[in-house]
Amino acid sequence: MEATALPTLRDQLLDRRRQLESVAAASIGTDEIERLLETVDATLGRMNAGTFGLCATCHDPIEPDRLLADPLTQYCLDHLTPVEQRALQQDLDLALRIQRELLPRTEIAFDGWDIAYHYQPAGPVSGDYCDLIPGCTNDGYFLIGDVSGKGIAAAILMSHLSATLRTLISLDLPLCDLIERASRVFCETTLPNHYATLICGHASPSGDVELCNAGHPPPLLIRAGGEIERLEATGVPIGMFCHGEFASRTVRLASGDLLLLYTDGLVEAENESGVEYGIERLCALASSAKGRPKTVIDACVRDLAAFRGAPAFRDDLTILVVSRA
Ligand SMILES: [Zn+2]
Repeated sequence: MEATALPTLRDQLLDRRRQLESVAAASIGTDEIERLLETVDATLGRMNAGTFGLCATCHDPIEPDRLLADPLTQYCLDHLTPVEQRALQQDLDLALRIQRELLPRTEIAFDGWDIAYHYQPAGPVSGDYCDLIPGCTNDGYFLIGDVSGKGIAAAILMSHLSATLRTLISLDLPLCDLIERASRVFCETTLPNHYATLICGHASPSGDVELCNAGHPPPLLIRAGGEIERLEATGVPIGMFCHGEFASRTVRLASGDLLLLYTDGLVEAENESGVEYGIERLCALASSAKGRPKTVIDACVRDLAAFRGAPAFRDDLTILVVSRA
């Protein structure tokens, strides 16, 4: 808690106290008002004693953002009361359901294209972004991204990114313009240290895929014969600079070719010895990848699970596969 915040919180509490007293004078629900008055007085007492902002159980500082939101808070996140734990869990459950609704169907097919994805948050919600959006002329967009940070904050940014891109894609802009606009919006409407890596792919009926890769790990282009090409980034992450140009590249997929996109939760996953899964292992797996996107994704997820062993996931994981039938 910053020292400057304390007088403000004290004023807020004194104001609450006055309001409670005026309600008490009108004798509405007196027992509850008395209980609230006692809570406010106890908090003011802790301010005077210098113990304000410390957890009543472990005496460590309470998280500053929680204290600002509710100066009456007496426990750190580790020592919430059962009622507070239930309320927090309900908030998280609802956030999860809202985020799930932002995701597209897990598989789509259109005009020779077959696309599927796997989305797995490390916690209740994810900072990964994934979307599949049909275009106007038998074309389609696939998107994968990773916003900075983790947990609820990252999930809020992910939903912001989702709304921005869905709106911009409906305008049918050239791909680089689309990403430039998304980057500007994201930069102007988020905190300075917040950004997102993103790949936006546009698949046309001809078999061409135009890709704009804003600082995201390189997708793999897997030819039907097993050769692999890494498609490196064509720009910086979006939201890092408010003005900046993005480039794209176009690759043509023939029948049986695949594109494999992923977030760093895949290649940076560690096993029990702290060894990373890594892009080399992914390439080795990909060189023998065959079949429909769902089959390829399942093989990736199985291989990752065999490599990792027991450790809990520390990062969100998304895998997206595009195939040309
Ligand atoms: Zn505590």
